[in-house]
Amino acid sequence: MSSLEERDVGVAAAPGSSSAGLGVGAVGAAVEAVAGVAAMQEEVGIRREGPEPDPDEPPKKRVKMPEGESGKLEERLYSVLCCTVCLDLPKASVYQCTNGHLMCAGCFIHLLADSRLKEEQATCPNCRCEISKNLCCRNLAVEKAVSELPTECTFCLKQFPRSSLERHQKEECQDRVTQCKYKRIGCPWQGPFHELPAHESECSHPTKTGTELMGILGEMDQNHRRDMQLYNSIFSLLCYEKIGFTEVQFRPYRTDDFITRLYYETPRFTVLNQTWVLKARVNDSERNPNLSCKRTLSFQLILKSKVNSALECSFLLLKGPYDDVRIKPVIHHHSFSNDANETDYVPLPISDSVECNKLLAAKNINLRLFIFQVQK
Ligand SMILES: [Zn+2]
Ligand SMILES: [Zn+2]
Ligand SMILES: [Zn+2]
Ligand SMILES: [Zn+2]
Repeated sequence: MSSLEERDVGVAAAPGSSSAGLGVGAVGAAVEAVAGVAAMQEEVGIRREGPEPDPDEPPKKRVKMPEGESGKLEERLYSVLCCTVCLDLPKASVYQCTNGHLMCAGCFIHLLADSRLKEEQATCPNCRCEISKNLCCRNLAVEKAVSELPTECTFCLKQFPRSSLERHQKEECQDRVTQCKYKRIGCPWQGPFHELPAHESECSHPTKTGTELMGILGEMDQNHRRDMQLYNSIFSLLCYEKIGFTEVQFRPYRTDDFITRLYYETPRFTVLNQTWVLKARVNDSERNPNLSCKRTLSFQLILKSKVNSALECSFLLLKGPYDDVRIKPVIHHHSFSNDANETDYVPLPISDSVECNKLLAAKNINLRLFIFQVQK
């Protein structure tokens, strides 16, 4: 038996249901889950009352149970509905392979990104069937079932259905972390919600003198100005005479080294009447990026045209119009000339490895490039 039957309680335990459930999607999986639970309960019964099994008999298929077979229904459902990769209960979307194995969105995207890095077809870790965005579908019944399972509030440690936890933690929990209403004039206090009235009644900030407050406000203004710097520089760039932008598509390639490495390159494109190319690499061309969980992308802008005089440019990569990836805008500068026609590799400012995997999981990476030419 492959490991899949041992692990997948729902499918393996319900006799005859495994093939019937195929392709039926959400309903099928839900039926299987229920059948699995029933079968598990049955099995527990059999074990209690039945005779000791003959040691010479071929081993009967056993349902793998979490500790405490007599555990509560919720605990048993946990093992039925968990992601087959990370074994956690999925927090958002749940995907399934064509054989019904469940994967949380993070693991699913990670598998797709890994296969792209290894240049292999992605497969389900349980049954090795091919997986892709087209081959796999979401399983809404599992998503809804998970949202009904109880979970613990991180503040008060009481149990709530997952679906109502967010509201409880944000608005209702008496222990949720709150900030003093005088934060705006510099009070750093934060603590559990139920202590807030007591703090606010004795908070020293409203009685501070104007001079004291001016000092605090000055410091806060400075932080704010730092945040605004990026926006201001974007606005001043927008006033330049020559601004060009285009959608760019990074396509995956392999180096011809002995051990090939993955890199990305765009076809040539024209912005501001010049021909350009963008290149990108994963984890700064680390040999085996698929082995590390931390994923980064860096990129380089290359001027392909010959120029008579140096081309002073600011440039900026942002998410494309149809892609859903979070990129923090960072403006870079370079003076392009025939001798210095390439920028250094600069990091693509993606918030984290999860976002990076989203880009890597897709065949091509689509972004938008802005080039601002500094007029002398
Ligand atoms: Zn997972
Ligand atoms: Zn599978
Ligand atoms: Zn709570
Ligand atoms: Zn306060």
